[in-house]
Amino acid sequence: MGVANHRSIAWGIAKACHDHGAQLAFTYQGEALEKRVRPLAQEIGSELVLPCDVSDAASIDATFAEIEKKWGGLDFLVHAIAFSNKDQLKGRYLDTTPDNFQLTMNISCYSFTAVAQRAVPLMKDGGSLLTLTYYGAERVMPHYNVMGVAKAALEASVRYLAADLGDRKIRVNAISAGPIKTLAASGIGDFNYILKWNELNAPLKRNVSTEEVGNAGLYLLSDLGSGVTGEVMHVDAGYHVVGMIKTQSAKQ
Ligand code: NAD
Repeated sequence: MGVANHRSIAWGIAKACHDHGAQLAFTYQGEALEKRVRPLAQEIGSELVLPCDVSDAASIDATFAEIEKKWGGLDFLVHAIAFSNKDQLKGRYLDTTPDNFQLTMNISCYSFTAVAQRAVPLMKDGGSLLTLTYYGAERVMPHYNVMGVAKAALEASVRYLAADLGDRKIRVNAISAGPIKTLAASGIGDFNYILKWNELNAPLKRNVSTEEVGNAGLYLLSDLGSGVTGEVMHVDAGYHVVGMIKTQSAKQ
């Protein structure tokens, strides 16, 4: 859930899973995105392409009813969905409006729990749920604002869902991805500056690709990650471990 185009993080994860033998279904939000998602799904032989707007409970119900009808079960689910009004992804968090706070929390945080509610009954032999988060949940990042608050709640949801679902052998994890130029990211103020900052200051001295996030997703979704749940795994070229980088004069 969350492929918008070939740059989407969800597409990176889908490709990695497909390369390792997974059979996939895709959801799209609205007709405009259907035109982009269908050809991508066809590229990897997926025939199940369904509409799903996570702000509409009936739409989520219909999506999972269709999956149950077609497949009878589900092994894993990727939630790579977030939204906030662009005019509040710049400037100060202080200026967040109640309407946009609720909208952002609903689509970017609660929807993971909402889809989990529908996916869990289909995961009869256990399963794996994965969502996408960002370092702005843990530390203040410029312009991330209300999305940082929603991601913090999303990361807490991962831990609560992991505790709730462990006895059903369902694992719940998040990947905290470094900045990547996608459609969603283009809505964040000064995003190119954030990209450059990460590149200059991350231990690996570069940004990550959707392929790298895809490979980490494959690990968490498949049996490779069978002992991991409740985890927020950083795939960010190591940026999250840096407090302050050495100046030129402090370098050996
Ligand atoms: P993207 O624009 O490719 O994907 C965002 C998706 O959210 C789109 O497919 C869009 O259709 C979907 N969406 C929004 N509102 C929806 C709704 N009401 N119902 C259904 N779908 C809806 O961008 P992306 O960067 O690949 O984003 C995927 C996830 O990764 C998001 O949760 C984002 O916050 C997270 N993330 C992105 C970055 C980054 O730098 N790009 C870094 C860390 C985490």
